[in-house]
Amino acid sequence: MGYAEFYRRSIEDRDAFWAEQAKLIDWQTPPAQICDASNPPFFKWFAGGKTNLCHNAVDRHLATRADQAALIFVSSETNEERVYTFRELHHEVQKMAAVLQSLGVGKGDRVLIYMPMIAEAAFAMLACARIGAIHAVVFGGFASHSLASRIEDATPKVVVSADAGSRGGKVVPYKPLLDEGIRLSAHKPDAVLLVDRKLAPMEKVAGRDQDWATLADKHLRTQVPCEWLDSTDISYTLYTSGTTGKPKGVQRDVGGYAVALAASMKHIFLGKPGETYFSTSDIGWVVGHSYIVYGPLLYGMATIMYEGLPIRPDAGIWWSLVEKYKVTSMFSAPTAVRVLKKQDPAFLKKYDLSSLRALFLAGEPLDEPTAKWISESLGRPIIDNYWQTESGWPILTVANGVEKKPSKFGSPGVPMYGYDVRLVHESTGEELTGPDQKGVVVIKGPTPPGFMQTVWKDDERFVKTYWSSIPGQQVYSTFDWGIRDADGYFYILGRTDDVINVAGHRLGTREIEESISSHPNIAEVAVVGVADQLKGQVAMAFCVVKDTSALTDEKARLKLEGEVMKVVDEQLGAVARPARVRFVTVLPKTRSGKLLRRAIQAVCEGRDPGDLTTIEDPTALQQIKDLV
Ligand code: AMP
Repeated sequence: MGYAEFYRRSIEDRDAFWAEQAKLIDWQTPPAQICDASNPPFFKWFAGGKTNLCHNAVDRHLATRADQAALIFVSSETNEERVYTFRELHHEVQKMAAVLQSLGVGKGDRVLIYMPMIAEAAFAMLACARIGAIHAVVFGGFASHSLASRIEDATPKVVVSADAGSRGGKVVPYKPLLDEGIRLSAHKPDAVLLVDRKLAPMEKVAGRDQDWATLADKHLRTQVPCEWLDSTDISYTLYTSGTTGKPKGVQRDVGGYAVALAASMKHIFLGKPGETYFSTSDIGWVVGHSYIVYGPLLYGMATIMYEGLPIRPDAGIWWSLVEKYKVTSMFSAPTAVRVLKKQDPAFLKKYDLSSLRALFLAGEPLDEPTAKWISESLGRPIIDNYWQTESGWPILTVANGVEKKPSKFGSPGVPMYGYDVRLVHESTGEELTGPDQKGVVVIKGPTPPGFMQTVWKDDERFVKTYWSSIPGQQVYSTFDWGIRDADGYFYILGRTDDVINVAGHRLGTREIEESISSHPNIAEVAVVGVADQLKGQVAMAFCVVKDTSALTDEKARLKLEGEVMKVVDEQLGAVARPARVRFVTVLPKTRSGKLLRRAIQAVCEGRDPGDLTTIEDPTALQQIKDLV
């Protein structure tokens, strides 16, 4: 079957199409219904079916591949390397599940996971899936305020963490940030389970903090069966930034997610059971959930979990892993490729990469020079794919597992099966059907399996944020601009909202502004994303200070700039730190007081700021122009 027909069936003959895909996973009870679209935009997939993500990712492979590699943990930071077979993974996950149960965790309870890229993080995720607990993984690069807001929203019974991570050979302690996060949060977890890597000293809180190794020792032989869950039960929440300061918990189901991932491994990621998959992302992001932990394992593939930088000990480290473990599919981000592009290209030639079928890149726009460089250096297809935390798997790409289709530079590709992707006019909502018209990329419901169910604990916010922004119709907005060419390929042109993308990491400018505003000498601040050669975008902050005597000379200015950056580092994490902080006396606003962010961004990028008839004080933009 060609892709056009495959796609058509997924939309027009939805139930039959997805009933077929559902056979890619094991069901304890098969679904009674395929898609329940009776209450849009809350779509239920495979209702009546009972299954379990951990069973599908681990247990079901024991019969056929118990002694094959399942999880390959490699740390170039601590020089550890360990291969867990499916049998060993099964054992480790049961230990973790038993420990979590001993700490009172049961079905529906939340477990917040704040961990570096170590095997125990995957054990914890899979253990939650096993017993029906809901995991909320928080990226290890986030600091105490980010953690506190997530702890408060997820109200976890238990937090799983570690003493420290390591980056570029430098130990990054996690425990003090976690302690501060819990202190700031109104909700307190009953217990904190700590993996002690012996990288940093830890002060234990009596009665709350538990040592993983000690508790695990008590459960060496405890068997913890998989809890059969309703397909529509919640598997996890994952927080993502939006236009407000408060991150949203993207909530996902069990059965739909399992089917979507298994299908994507086959049709999009060219995987085969028994082979090795390598995603360079982090478990704190959606790519890590879908394509480090669940996707490859669900499909019976070994997955590499890598802690470290792409250029340490040298720029050949990733390619050495491809050679050693005969990786067939690799998934990374354009930023990482741009980092590698600055290194000696000889590293790419040093290793045998013949096992590799393709390199998949996602998370941010893939620019042509980067795509061309890596494509020529690798001699393998480079496949761009566009999606979001909300979708859980690609929205736009090419499904070469169904039919080989050419990729086009600059375009992630065509709508994936199950996604009815449209372009609409921003203010009229009118559908744009012609080629090369710019509009907002939207998805017409029902959204496919694996797509977010709702915003955790906030159905209203889900409807309001995502399904109500286009006039006259209920469609899901991606908040991305796009165009479609005459062949049906989409091109993504950036966000329509105040979300920025730094090195593939999605950050809300409002969150950064709120953090900066907490500095005692900052009266007002505007943060915008500015194009950057390496990171795609970087955050730039323009601040109005309360006491200008703090800015008498260059030294004082630099000091305040450093302080502002430190506030962000401490509250949100270095990942959100603005690349530049500049001081102005007034911010460009409309007469009604709305910040003219797009104009600020345009000026920073040397573009025309557009219509400025509504600006309150025209000198405000001039000040910014003079500073960039
Ligand atoms: P996140 O939810 O953090 O994965 O961020 C999703 C956002 O990243 C999307 O809404 C896009 O703005 C951007 N994005 C992700 N993948 C791509 C891609 N392949 N091309 C262009 N933009 C992308």
